[in-house]
Amino acid sequence: MKIKDRLEFNNKLKPVCLKPENFVRDAINIMSEKNIGSIMIANEDNTIAGIITERDLLKKVLFKKMNPDKTRLSEVMTTDLKVAKENDDLLDWLRIMSNERFRHVPVVDKDQKIIGIMSQGDFVSYTWPELLSRMKENVKATFDSGYQIVFIVFAMLAYALIVSWIL
Ligand code: AMP
Repeated sequence: MKIKDRLEFNNKLKPVCLKPENFVRDAINIMSEKNIGSIMIANEDNTIAGIITERDLLKKVLFKKMNPDKTRLSEVMTTDLKVAKENDDLLDWLRIMSNERFRHVPVVDKDQKIIGIMSQGDFVSYTWPELLSRMKENVKATFDSGYQIVFIVFAMLAYALIVSWIL
């Protein structure tokens, strides 16, 4: 399934973005109020400049005892970003995020302008039902093939009994 076909992606509100010159405090306020785990940082033309997530707040701000009221987002945001396109496959991104240990992926258009963001949580809500239905199919297939084996063994036993009875 493509990102753009995902219901969560289409129904999401327009993402809140901040500017590189905003303070870390601004990001903390919005992330707390809106209960979100990341904020994208946009340039004037709405192209993506960076991202800041809870992990950055912990490792770059709290751990290094930086003052959120005086630290600009440009000082702590991640700029070496992996970004997705609307037509990308969801499961490919789930794999990339899992392998490379990050949980957010900004979705941009061909000019790198921000369209939205997908979090690992959004992807998981897709993959769980998918996973359960695959498990069901596997269990059914295993049961069906197990049933066939029992039938074959039973038929062989019956055949052996009949042959020994005739002879
Ligand atoms: P997360 O697991 O999303 O909280 O992010 C862990 C680290 O990876 C943080 O330093 C983030 O700034 C960074 N990060 C998050 N999303 C991306 C992304 N799409 N591309 C590159 N780095 C990212």
